[in-house]
Amino acid sequence: MTDLSAPFDRVVCGDLVTPEGILAQGFVAIRGETIAAIGQGQPPPARMIDDHAGRLIFPGLVDGHMHTSSAMGWGGIEHASRTAAAGGVTTLCDMPYDIPRPVTDATIFSEKVAVVNRTAHVDVALYATITKTGGVARIPELAAAGASAFKLSTYEYDAVRFPRIDHREMEHAFRLIAETGLMVAVHNEDQELVEALTAEAKASGRTDPIQHARTRPALAETLADVLIFELARATGAHAHLAHSSLARGFELARAFRAMGVKASAEACIQYLCLTEEDLIRQGGKAKCNPPLRTAEEVERLWTCLVAGDVAYVSTDHAPWPIERKTSPDIFACAAGLTGLQSFAPLMVTLLEERGLPLTLLAKLCAEEPARLHGLAPKKGRLAVGADADLCVMERGQFVFDESTILDRPECRWSPYHGRTLRARVAATYLRGRPIWDGARVLNAPGEGRFVPRQGR
Ligand SMILES: [Zn+2]
Repeated sequence: MTDLSAPFDRVVCGDLVTPEGILAQGFVAIRGETIAAIGQGQPPPARMIDDHAGRLIFPGLVDGHMHTSSAMGWGGIEHASRTAAAGGVTTLCDMPYDIPRPVTDATIFSEKVAVVNRTAHVDVALYATITKTGGVARIPELAAAGASAFKLSTYEYDAVRFPRIDHREMEHAFRLIAETGLMVAVHNEDQELVEALTAEAKASGRTDPIQHARTRPALAETLADVLIFELARATGAHAHLAHSSLARGFELARAFRAMGVKASAEACIQYLCLTEEDLIRQGGKAKCNPPLRTAEEVERLWTCLVAGDVAYVSTDHAPWPIERKTSPDIFACAAGLTGLQSFAPLMVTLLEERGLPLTLLAKLCAEEPARLHGLAPKKGRLAVGADADLCVMERGQFVFDESTILDRPECRWSPYHGRTLRARVAATYLRGRPIWDGARVLNAPGEGRFVPRQGR
């Protein structure tokens, strides 16, 4: 039971947003690193009272899919986690496709954990993966080390960093992952189709931005989706589409669930608001895989989201240096967008523009990714006993300016530059301590920590 006779360490006041509703004029009372009480009205005595009256207090966001270390290795953890702090994202689920070594065994995993504990500004859960061949035997040790999920790919960007796993190896991996109880998120694009179409486009001299979408048509994505879910059906693993840019992916997940398969799919925020027009206009800065689709497809994705078929919404944040995004040859540009610092305000904006409740943000950007990554009940929820991770949002009109991104100078670019957002992150708290005050990151590298999967 909560002891109300002793003052709390800190009370944070504002309008609390949970998946169930909004508690106006509420408070979160904190002892140590943990939420000790939640209520409404007069706040209880505390050594510190942070009054955010009129502001929205969300659980700290949990980004279920992002990449700190594709471009510069584990040095990227510090930079990405600093932008996360400024964006109200208090837990990152970091992908394993790191340079120079992806996270494919327990030794590499523990080395990455040490770098997280030494350099991160927010808490970090880690995906694990396997080598292109011969790596499946490492699956149990990676799960035992505390991996939150596995990531595999049907498409090869790089034989070492981001390999395609062939069907035979994939089936074997799925069987072993099923035994661990972890989810396997899969990058869902068909290699054969994309390679053939890309070769045709290049042969005809077409390398302008829209060719990126044309060479990765819907069928390239849905062929991979079906393969992934059939592997789940055959092996009992929980298969998760790492991103679906198409309503069809969510419909397939639903259809397979109806057949008793553990199937889910994720939307990245860019698929909910950017289109092929952005690809044409912004070129490499709007190149991601799968590619952006049409405005009509964006509408269909929102229908899936409202219907409850989107497992969670992530950023797929990939802070490539700008020089990797500016070639006029779209095929020469790196794939992946930045999105951590704009994530929470953009999600508020998109929900409000559609008249949808902000409780969906608490559910799809905190509670559900935390649950699927085995980080609940510590993470993802405003609840007694949970870590006191908070994202405080102020409403208003704020133009998102990419130069404010707190990454390395060469990574201060955004496909959302110039967009008017309806909120900004006024404060972020990590385990009871303020780490962002609306202008500055307040904590030191290494105050974030590795979060192992709970309760295995
Ligand atoms: Zn990704």
